[in-house]
Amino acid sequence: MRNVNPLRELKFLHIVLGAACNQHCKMCFQSDKQSLIDPEIFRQKLRPLYPFLTSVCIQGGEPTILPSTGEFINIALAMNPFIRFGIVTNGRLFDSRWSDIFVRYGDFVNISLNAASKKIYSDITINGDWEKVISNLQELSNKRRKAKSKLKVWASFVVLDDNLHEMQAFLTLCRKIGVDKARFFHDWKLLPSNGILLAEQLRKAYKLKSSGAIEIEGLESLEALVLRKPFSGLAYCTRPLNQIFIDYFGNVSFCCLLGERGILGNLHSESLSGLWNSRKALEIRRRIRSKDFSLCGTYCKPRGTFDKKTFSLACDGHTLIDLPIQ
Ligand code: SF4
Repeated sequence: MRNVNPLRELKFLHIVLGAACNQHCKMCFQSDKQSLIDPEIFRQKLRPLYPFLTSVCIQGGEPTILPSTGEFINIALAMNPFIRFGIVTNGRLFDSRWSDIFVRYGDFVNISLNAASKKIYSDITINGDWEKVISNLQELSNKRRKAKSKLKVWASFVVLDDNLHEMQAFLTLCRKIGVDKARFFHDWKLLPSNGILLAEQLRKAYKLKSSGAIEIEGLESLEALVLRKPFSGLAYCTRPLNQIFIDYFGNVSFCCLLGERGILGNLHSESLSGLWNSRKALEIRRRIRSKDFSLCGTYCKPRGTFDKKTFSLACDGHTLIDLPIQ
């Protein structure tokens, strides 16, 4: 049966407009630093989708230097002025031009800080500018307060050996600057090795979280992956019902965390509505609806198997790394 899920149910679009970036971060997973999306994807192929969307997340590379970002926002807004945009940016060039757009049309701005000090930021980020990023973040916070904008301001932090000791200071900085949510991420190849320090940082972060002083996400998966704590797991995920993820090759899946096995097809050869209701889409939707997260990534399904010497970190059904037991 086709079209069991009409396109109008699709409310969220996550799109990667290119790989180009003006920085290089130690944990960056992109080897490609040049590719750009074919503008035909957002000029034509996504046209039927815009009227139904409520929210779009724009990612790169670095979206503020990608040639398509401004045009894409204008096209989508011209077809649906109610769309609100999110952006994941390193913040270095997030100047008043961008903050004006996002204070007016934004859902969220996520600035990747990954540190709480210039020293650690410089260790992690080649070609970064700590002062500029912090001042852009402050300007954004002030502007949205004055405008009484509903924009959410988030800051993210990939936890590494280099910055592990700054988790707490990062949370303090976030509160000082007026960040609404601190988001902790991990790279499974660069998980922090000091479990004692991580446990201490997590304990303080949980305490702050439960006080309600700031919203914090990402603590549970880190705890499960590094400290081997049982992961309570997801109760449910709605992404296969209302979200689509498109990368700069035109590949379509429900979510960026599903990996290659979640790719439904490519917009260069198939239509969006065809992919949204393809056999594969129906199957993945069925599995996730029935709480089968076996295709899902380590944020949603961190799990490990112990033997005497190692802890195997598994993702998407494959063993990725063996960590020595500490
Ligand atoms: S990885 Fe799976 S469970 Fe996690 S958000 Fe994506 S679709 Fe949902």
